[in-house]
Amino acid sequence: MDSMEGLKYLPAFQAAEKPEGNAWLLAIENRRILMKNLGDRISIPDRDELKRILWGSIKEDAGKAVTEDIAEEYIGSYGEHGCYCTRINEGREWPEGFQLVELRELTALTGDPGLFILSGAAHHILHWKSMNQYCGRCGHKTVAKKDERAMACNNCGNVIYPRISPATITAILREDRLLLAHNRNFGQGLYSLIAGYVEPGESLEQCVEREIREEVGIKVKNIRYFSSQPWSFPDSLMVAFIAEYDSGEIEVDKIEIVDAGWYRADALPLIPNTDSVAGKIIRWFREEYGKKE
Ligand SMILES: [Zn+2]
Repeated sequence: MDSMEGLKYLPAFQAAEKPEGNAWLLAIENRRILMKNLGDRISIPDRDELKRILWGSIKEDAGKAVTEDIAEEYIGSYGEHGCYCTRINEGREWPEGFQLVELRELTALTGDPGLFILSGAAHHILHWKSMNQYCGRCGHKTVAKKDERAMACNNCGNVIYPRISPATITAILREDRLLLAHNRNFGQGLYSLIAGYVEPGESLEQCVEREIREEVGIKVKNIRYFSSQPWSFPDSLMVAFIAEYDSGEIEVDKIEIVDAGWYRADALPLIPNTDSVAGKIIRWFREEYGKKE
């Protein structure tokens, strides 16, 4: 499976010493990002231009410091672009040429799936920061650490790193068929793979077995790693596996999964798009098994 697209984004905590040319500023509002319309395409806004729009007037306001909640944060590079992110408020009016775009529509609108990964990282970091403004142990206000990406409590010494929640997602094969399931939370007619969060004390393989047992009541064998992908809504890392059907009959849990079945490559239902790891594996299955006699 091709997972190279995410590699265009190289996460980093501190910007390189020499200024990077043409830096970007990712301005995130909930699950939307502010984009610049360049006529024939849309792009992540130029950092200097957007900074003037966002904070120009504030900086000119004599004696008023730029406050924590409007500060920007460096998150790494994307090709030649140094990347910064910041949170923006809802309901603000933007100058002509700027538009808010749903993160989930970014790939379709730009043709670049790597931008989805990049903006997801911005969303993840900003969400984590906003959720950790106060120490969970003593309640004091936290401050961003200077030497690494973490929030620190100067009162009790608590250090809070970005939380990453691993989850597994599994393609279950039964000869030439794939198990697909409809989750209660999915859009109408959409089918996907079995997925779920890893529990404390559990290995990834155990998570795969448990989620499948709980949600569709079958047993699997030969669990093999397939690929992984960040899923920053808000803080997940999806670890994808392939497993073979072992025994049992499908019995959906009716809590999360309301329908499930075995599908051949040439007769798939509606499936997720290629931004998600599920969408990628199901298309891999269609390629691999669709061409067999
Ligand atoms: Zn504390």
